[in-house]
Amino acid sequence: MGNVTKQQILKQYFGYDAFREGQEELIDSILSGQDTFGIMPTGAGKSLCYQIPALMLEGITLVISPLISLMKDQVGALNQAGIHAAYLNSSLTVNQYHKALDCARTGTYKIIYVAPERLVLEEFLDFARQVRIAMITVDEAHCVSQWGQDFRPSYLKIMEFVHQLAYRPVISAFTATATKEVKEDVVAALQLQNPKLVTTGFDRKNLFYEVSHEKDKFARVQSYIEAHSDESGIIYCLTRKTVEEVCERLQHLGVAATRYHAGLSDKERRENQDDFLYDNCPVMVATNAFGMGIDKSNVRFVIHYNMPKNIESYYQEAGRAGRDGEESRCILLYAPQDVIINQLFIDRNTDNEMLNDEEQSLVQERDRERLRQMTYYCTTNECLRDYILRYFGEYSSNYCGKCSNCLTEFEDVDITEAAKVLIQCVDASHQRYGMTVITDAVHGSSNAKMKQTGMERNPSYGKLAGTPIFRIRQIMNYLVYHDYLMVTTDAYPVVKLTKQSLAALEDRKPIIMKIAKEQEKPAKENKKSTKRSTKKKGAAELDLTELDYALFDQLRQLRMMIAKEEHTPPYIVFSDKALKDMAIRKPATNADFLEVNGVGESKCKKYGARFMAVIAGK
Ligand code: ADP
Ligand code: ZN
Repeated sequence: MGNVTKQQILKQYFGYDAFREGQEELIDSILSGQDTFGIMPTGAGKSLCYQIPALMLEGITLVISPLISLMKDQVGALNQAGIHAAYLNSSLTVNQYHKALDCARTGTYKIIYVAPERLVLEEFLDFARQVRIAMITVDEAHCVSQWGQDFRPSYLKIMEFVHQLAYRPVISAFTATATKEVKEDVVAALQLQNPKLVTTGFDRKNLFYEVSHEKDKFARVQSYIEAHSDESGIIYCLTRKTVEEVCERLQHLGVAATRYHAGLSDKERRENQDDFLYDNCPVMVATNAFGMGIDKSNVRFVIHYNMPKNIESYYQEAGRAGRDGEESRCILLYAPQDVIINQLFIDRNTDNEMLNDEEQSLVQERDRERLRQMTYYCTTNECLRDYILRYFGEYSSNYCGKCSNCLTEFEDVDITEAAKVLIQCVDASHQRYGMTVITDAVHGSSNAKMKQTGMERNPSYGKLAGTPIFRIRQIMNYLVYHDYLMVTTDAYPVVKLTKQSLAALEDRKPIIMKIAKEQEKPAKENKKSTKRSTKKKGAAELDLTELDYALFDQLRQLRMMIAKEEHTPPYIVFSDKALKDMAIRKPATNADFLEVNGVGESKCKKYGARFMAVIAGK
């Protein structure tokens, strides 16, 4: 690419005017030949950080990526932008594979996506030794970490591959997982040499976080979708069965919903995913099998029908909302039952055959601890954004003004007496029982467990009979979270006393907890809850007073038509943001068109005339 600068590439190919936080630093580091490790939240724009240097370096960049769908999407987007790229994975036939390798040998591609298990196959090694490999980029790098949430043993082949090359290319790695363990693991497992580490802020300012304890989860989903009927969103469920149920009930109501989980045939999964990407079915109901590599940019809401297993997963899944930077909502519908289902998953989790028994139980212990942190998120009354950011080691203010807790009116309640009862109950039963037994006991429940455990004779039995069980559980969670009690991480978690338990009994200071004021719920979903829905279809955060909605709709129709012609998802043609910008700017010449957000030269040439014709009213 001769002397083209990174800014020129950003504009010419990707159509953007400015780099986002962290991008320039990462690109410069790679270009200087240093190993580079970028940790940025989903949607922050990691791909450009290796794609731009890939175009500037002498030689080929190999991008290691865990999933076929991810590669396909990325390669599709690159080709749209006028950059020659290819992928090598098991979705290719032998012939296609050979053809791709031949083209790669003759220098057709600057960027090649490859599945990790391919790397060490003899044929691929032969190829790799014949060409110049400038860089190896490891996408979703947390997959190398045994303690990460999606460990992939095949990722360990990456270094095996590097060692078989005659020279060592620069290595860059990217992930959205920022915990300390994962960071250290990635640096060690990929043997990064004196890497430049760039971590950008993890805050996604356009996302609104909400946790809701609903008796009738489906009713909530229904009213939300009815109030946001023109929006695309994902509903995550913990089990396949729930996916089926929720999807069916939505379809029954006439919602264009589709489903995705590992129990469906490959064909159905592919079709449903496409229906979602192409906006034929704007609502996707899925298990966590869905989503890695889905960068549909106009996802306006992500609802978790159940609490997921940990904050890492939650942040990643919720982060699929609002990749285009527009206001979006992340709602978690919590019920205590979710904790139990997750616990079962952890206990049963034996899907990692690479681990021995000892490692296995260590992993389970970590999983239980993660689950606990997730549960606190659902029960805390503090700022939700702050909670997530602190989890990832970032400090922020404890008021964001943009989460359900910050917007709820709370009152301070003195829970000292209830706390004493709970602590005494744990003490008197010799710290042998779990949360449920303790809460049931102080509530004075009369189930069989109470007899079996002898709780009926515990001095605290029934002492909080007048307090609803959910409130007792809330108090219990508060006490654990604030170290007045602790819960073990074994298979049968047991509540234990801490140093602070004694302090509480000795009345050293009152324990104050924030509890939401009782309020009447609005009967219908509050349409003002996201800014967008107060406006007409498709409105969002650009300079909306100037947005011509009728034109925006026409542009969307044209985009859909082109997407169908080209068999590509609409958001790959243009993002919603690009269309809105077009509807505001109303470009009339190629030069104007190039000014639109997300329009590079290739897209201008390909689509400029058709979009400008619609804008001119032809
Ligand atoms: P990540 O991999 O970090 O989740 P992506 O690389 O998929 O995020 O980028 C998310 C979105 O942001 C994409 O639509 C991308 O085109 C866009 N984007 C990336 N960098 C910029 C930039 N500098 N200016 C505007 N948009 C950008
Ligand atoms: Zn907040």
